[in-house]
Amino acid sequence: MPRRSNANNPSPPAPPLLPDALGHPPEGVGEDVWIDVIRKMDEVYSDLLQYEVALEEKNAALEETQKFLFSVLTSMSDILVVCDRHGNIQEVNQALADLVGRNESELRGTAVRELFADEASRRRADRFMRELHRERIHDCELLFRAEDGAATPVAVNCTPRLSPVGKFVGMVITGRPVGELRRAYEQLRQAHEDLKRTQQQLIHSEKMASLGRLVAGVAHELNNPISFVLGNVYALQRYSRRLGEYLAAIHGGADAQEVGELRRTLRIDRIIEDLQPLIDGTIEGAERTRDIVVGLKRFSAVDRAEEEAVFDLGEVLERSVHWVVKASGSKIRVDTQIPKDLFVSGSAGQMQQVLVNLVQNAIDSTDRQEDARLDICGTVEQGRVVLTFHDSGPGFKEEHLSRVFDPFFTTKPVGKGTGLGLSISYGIVERHGGRLRAANHPQGGAVLTLELPLARPS
Ligand code: ADP
Repeated sequence: MPRRSNANNPSPPAPPLLPDALGHPPEGVGEDVWIDVIRKMDEVYSDLLQYEVALEEKNAALEETQKFLFSVLTSMSDILVVCDRHGNIQEVNQALADLVGRNESELRGTAVRELFADEASRRRADRFMRELHRERIHDCELLFRAEDGAATPVAVNCTPRLSPVGKFVGMVITGRPVGELRRAYEQLRQAHEDLKRTQQQLIHSEKMASLGRLVAGVAHELNNPISFVLGNVYALQRYSRRLGEYLAAIHGGADAQEVGELRRTLRIDRIIEDLQPLIDGTIEGAERTRDIVVGLKRFSAVDRAEEEAVFDLGEVLERSVHWVVKASGSKIRVDTQIPKDLFVSGSAGQMQQVLVNLVQNAIDSTDRQEDARLDICGTVEQGRVVLTFHDSGPGFKEEHLSRVFDPFFTTKPVGKGTGLGLSISYGIVERHGGRLRAANHPQGGAVLTLELPLARPS
């Protein structure tokens, strides 16, 4: 029991609480009091021992926890910085040390703003310190100065660190370098761009290939009227020379006999007979040339019409069939049975590309047939027009049916097919809210079905 001194009533000096040499209680202390004291001392001693054991256990647990925390911090791939409320670093993890190329003990006590590569990042970090009382900062990109001095972008999160009583005592910054992610994203974006460009080029080359075929056909088509216009003009040139000679003789005062002779040898009567048919033929040839050019202009104008508009699908189909058949020089017999006024909304140029491709494929698949046929049939069902293109070719091979809309799928020889026609057509039709299907007809031949929503009732 502790003894208290009382200033008002000073007690006599306490006898020393020590046993004498023989272990007897000190003088003035009763035996039972002495035993009590010894028991208490034993209790205190055993308590002390227990405290020591508990302390050692807690110490060991603390060391374990510390090791555990250290291993977690070390193996974290994200960076971690803990700083006090003045912005001085208290703790960092290995990832941060690796990033900035300085060890943890060097960094402790230095200002967190020194970690950043530019003034803007430093200012933002300062602002975080001020604003953290109000809100947390998520996914903010700051530039850290890496070991080699390069500015490394890191997406950071900042959270306030609070004391047990809720007082702001500093902040915790975690973050992940976004360089890798950014580079990967950049590569992906670049690859996507390249792919888009390549696709554009392919679409362009596919268009050029069909244009090439068309141009050849148009040249053939124009050749006929132009050559007979030319033939007629040469004849007229010869006639005009003979007429000139004849008139010169008349005006030169030749007598009637000479004139009559000249008229016979220069076959003037024949010329006069021939003149009108020659002129008519020339006019007709020129008109045919003009019609071809007008038609071609309309065809190519449609080809350029990329913008959205309401157009008559029937008209576009008619022109496409006409030009593709002409261009191919094929003897295919095309029979078109479609309702009038099939108004569809979208790009007439793109739809023309689809139709040209379907007709061209039918021509290609029947090119060795004597009596090649293409039957184009149209119906209107529930506000949609359905066109079927049934040709007399061999149809699709069963194993090809699931692949014909794949880009680059072609069974045609190199230089003839790109394998893009149906795949591009499929995309165009889908963009117009329609469907394009390929199948074989029970009686033979391929059937391509084009279905499109009508812009207004036909
Ligand atoms: P390409 O005509 O350049 O080969 P497409 O995408 O237009 O490319 O056609 C892909 C393939 O589909 C063709 O190579 C051919 O094998 C097949 N095909 C397309 N239309 C027909 C058809 N009417 N009859 C038979 N096969 C066809």
